[in-house]
Amino acid sequence: MITAVYPGSFDPPTCGHEDIIRRAAAIFAKLHVTVFTNPQKATFFSVNDRVDMLNHMVEGMDNVTVDSCQGLLVDYATERNAGIIVRGLRAVSDFDYEFTMALMNKKLASHIETVFIMTNPEYLYLSSSKVKELASLGANIGGLVPPYVETRLKDRFGYPQT
Ligand code: ADP
Repeated sequence: MITAVYPGSFDPPTCGHEDIIRRAAAIFAKLHVTVFTNPQKATFFSVNDRVDMLNHMVEGMDNVTVDSCQGLLVDYATERNAGIIVRGLRAVSDFDYEFTMALMNKKLASHIETVFIMTNPEYLYLSSSKVKELASLGANIGGLVPPYVETRLKDRFGYPQT
């Protein structure tokens, strides 16, 4: 029985994240989706808001839990008995960062493997920052984020709900 962690900022969670969560949940017995907080990094949504949006996203996925953590990812994974870190890969541009992080985590905890899941081509260009930029300009973000996240973004940017 393999437990995995899917860490990220999820600021906010998008359909690209949801796709990775569904696919990882189909592979691993248990999946912890974890909002990692970095006090040095300013985020648009609070940790509680991001956890709330993720909880809506994983409703009905029985082997998936959502929480948050401020510490080291490998410590969190070890505490949860998770032997796998799941990360999504979009373009070559993700590779350098992900490669460095995977190697660093391997150095810190050799018993933990990082597993990459390729993006669904539909979400290749989708990122939380693009979604925020589009939402701030009033663009239609339907299909890029789940309806609940769309509502939260419109709320924050003061656009009427349709
Ligand atoms: P981080 O700040 O840790 O990179 P993100 O919330 O931006 O957090 O991303 C979390 C993980 O999800 C990363 O591995 C990222 O590459 C992946 N991811 C983000 N958007 C997509 C997408 N559209 N398709 C596949 N993976 C994605």
